[in-house]
Amino acid sequence: MAVVMRPLGVFRGATIDYPNENMTSYEEVNWFFQTAARRLRVNDDLQELLMHPWRELTVEVPVSLDNGRLKVFMGYRVQHNGARGPYKGGIRYHPKADLDEVRALAALMTWKTAVADIPFGGAKGGVQCDPSHLSQSELNRLTRRYTEHISYIIGPTRDIPAPDMGTDAQTMAWMMDAYGQRYGYNPAVATGKPIELGGSYGREAAPGRGLVFCLSEWAQLAERPLQGSTVVVQGFGQVGSWAARLIGSLGCRVIAVSDIRGGVFNGEGLSINDVLNHAKATGSVVNFPGSENITNDELLGLECDILVPAAIESVINCKNADRVKASIVVEAANHPVTPVADMILNQRGVILLPDILVNAGGVVVSYFEWVQNIQQFRWDEEDVNKELFKVMSKATQQVCHLAQNEDITMREAAYLLGVSRVLKTIELRGFI
Ligand code: NAD
Repeated sequence: MAVVMRPLGVFRGATIDYPNENMTSYEEVNWFFQTAARRLRVNDDLQELLMHPWRELTVEVPVSLDNGRLKVFMGYRVQHNGARGPYKGGIRYHPKADLDEVRALAALMTWKTAVADIPFGGAKGGVQCDPSHLSQSELNRLTRRYTEHISYIIGPTRDIPAPDMGTDAQTMAWMMDAYGQRYGYNPAVATGKPIELGGSYGREAAPGRGLVFCLSEWAQLAERPLQGSTVVVQGFGQVGSWAARLIGSLGCRVIAVSDIRGGVFNGEGLSINDVLNHAKATGSVVNFPGSENITNDELLGLECDILVPAAIESVINCKNADRVKASIVVEAANHPVTPVADMILNQRGVILLPDILVNAGGVVVSYFEWVQNIQQFRWDEEDVNKELFKVMSKATQQVCHLAQNEDITMREAAYLLGVSRVLKTIELRGFI
């Protein structure tokens, strides 16, 4: 096992003065952080502390494949900032889940948990693999080995993983079991688990439901009625499919959705339940009866009111930001818009609801699951959704008011709020 523990302050990255499209994901997230930090007049030393991960663990994950061969995957757990509580963040299984990407996602978790005002720090994990090429038993072995290797730094009061791209409730069940074999049964070590193993009602739908609560609150505050709006969703996984299913409750009509294989379009509106059944039966939304097949590139440039990127990072960039026709972009995915595209869209007057606010519903209900596991008391789904609504509405109001008062964008306001909350806890704890 290759282990790299990076102590505080050793890693020093260059300060970036102007964003460009050659920036890595981690530099992009830090660009957004730095604009807030400068506005808050945070000194350079403190910016270093806040920008870089407090601990990084890199592990080799050897897995016996079903064909008898052995394959070694690289795995990571990055604990970005623990000032506000135990580290919290998902585990991604994806070919591009390298250390830079995991660092970026971990940093986003720090600002996201602070914006939502839940008592966690930020972390993220990843294994660089393509889960669609692995059998269930190979995934089980991979998850167990990865969990064993990171078990020294996770735990119910230290760092609590959850699902992200390429992982799901089953992955969390394996993680909980592997951790339990070493340290004893403790369901609070991971969230997003199956209901039968201490998972929370409403967790699966939470990122999509939280998005709808956030969009609805923003629309009320901005006095922008959403009734009759057309919506395009890129990514039809856990987040995108739930967002597509629930956004109809705001009177919107979903006219296009996509997955990695392509998209489908019907200007009259798609029946999301039928698309879901089609995707379950065929493995993709493509060729959904009564719709036109389109590419993911075409989908991003469709004429619509609301665009919901719910797949991967940097899909809206300098090459296509000019072609986005939506007047509102709701960031369901983590950092789907690069800093340069962010500037282009802002100049064009496109409203951007930022990832660290919009998709916080997942980690908020993960927090509720952790609370339920510690209390050993289950809430019903109505209570979970009611509490989620409270948290998402409050965070959206706070971000909107800050944006209005300071005359800044919603993203700048969200970072300002998140960074100032983390700074406050550092000051109160007095450890620097
Ligand atoms: P998922 O694996 O369930 O689904 C991802 C979807 O995106 C799939 O439909 C996939 O086919 C599609 N996709 C992948 N690459 C694509 C590409 N290049 N072009 C178009 N579509 C592509 O993942 P998820 O859990 O829904 O996560 C999606 C995003 O939301 C990620 O950025 C993730 O970090 C973020 N997020 C997830 C959660 C959660 O609880 N799962 C919470 C908050 C944010």
